[in-house]
Amino acid sequence: MNTFELDKSYVAPTYARFPVEIVGGKGATVTDADGKTYIDLGTGIAVNTFGTCDEEWIAAVTEQLHTFQHTSNLYYSSPCARLAEQLCTRTGMKRVFFSNSGAEANECAIKAARKYATEKKGADAYTILTLCNSFHGRTITTLSATGQDVFHQLFTPMTPGFVHAPANDLDAVRKIADETPLAAIMFEVVQGEGGVNPLSREFVDGLCALAAEKDILLIADEVQCGNGRTGMLYGYMNYGFTPDIFTTAKGLGGGLPIGATVLGEKVKDIFSAGDNGSTFGGNPVACAGALNILSRLDEKTLDGVKKRSKMIFDALTGAPGVVSITGLGLMLGVETEKPAGDVIAACREGGVLVIKAKNKVRLLPPLNIPEEQLAHALEVLRAACAS
Ligand SMILES: *Cc1c(COP(=O)(O)O)cnc(C)c1O
Repeated sequence: MNTFELDKSYVAPTYARFPVEIVGGKGATVTDADGKTYIDLGTGIAVNTFGTCDEEWIAAVTEQLHTFQHTSNLYYSSPCARLAEQLCTRTGMKRVFFSNSGAEANECAIKAARKYATEKKGADAYTILTLCNSFHGRTITTLSATGQDVFHQLFTPMTPGFVHAPANDLDAVRKIADETPLAAIMFEVVQGEGGVNPLSREFVDGLCALAAEKDILLIADEVQCGNGRTGMLYGYMNYGFTPDIFTTAKGLGGGLPIGATVLGEKVKDIFSAGDNGSTFGGNPVACAGALNILSRLDEKTLDGVKKRSKMIFDALTGAPGVVSITGLGLMLGVETEKPAGDVIAACREGGVLVIKAKNKVRLLPPLNIPEEQLAHALEVLRAACAS
């Protein structure tokens, strides 16, 4: 059997895969089993921060592989400690818990918020408010946090303690906060799976004021919009506030599984021994990869993200068949006159991989995609939207 047949026979069919088998890649391109190369504007959903098989990242990961590949969290290890230091010194946060995915990072944030609220406000203040159209993960609890009923239906009962309010509706949030003692408000500053929608500045300012007033923790889910993707190191930095907790994963490892829950001043001492754990969390190889990625998310790279973002806006704004462009930096959603699925298929024919977010074509290119390749990919995308 070939890969398609093996997958269809043996892999649980939870994904509607595109009919492409990736066999390799280099930089901003990937190659399929027929030898066709594509410019990859999806990066494994914002994971391959500097593209496929990036040499510097491979060197960092390989060096650690030859040093030691894993130890348990019963011992100290340098990559884990140094990555925590970097995450804190680059953001002003205080402590990090490491896991392996975005969902786990959010689970940990939820535990931190519940413990903080229980200690500060009593056992009734466990409720966490999240936004409609959010996405926080696939475990039962992060699914409960996810404000999209379609994901809940077949898996009830959901974990209690979550309420949802429409994004950018401060009155709705205030009304809930007046009726229910809240532990935290958790949100993506740019909703990814929900359609690449940035929150409004006024709404985020309002959340900050409300949180200060009622001692509600602010949790920024930076799993997709973090790690340079929006043109700032973390997405919340575009909004001029510091969350009490932020979570990240996807692009942090540059292609290896890692999750991080980053705790600020208010919650820096919330956890003690035994409160959380993860066998693979803080894995030295994943941390070595993440250290390399973070070290390269400097001003020059972030300026490059902004420049490439402008190229995309310039190429697509007002283009035939393009209705609107939303998002920040290199996390963009393109609303098209044609169904997004048709545009995605036409791009694939033309040698460009893009993905979907709700009704939009989603662009998540490597942060260092060469400008000529981006320009070429944009020509293909423009043609796909117009025809
Ligand atoms: C992808 C994503 C998650 C879940 O991450 P996994 O690594 O798939 O568990 C959580 N939050 C946001 C915003 C995401 O984009």
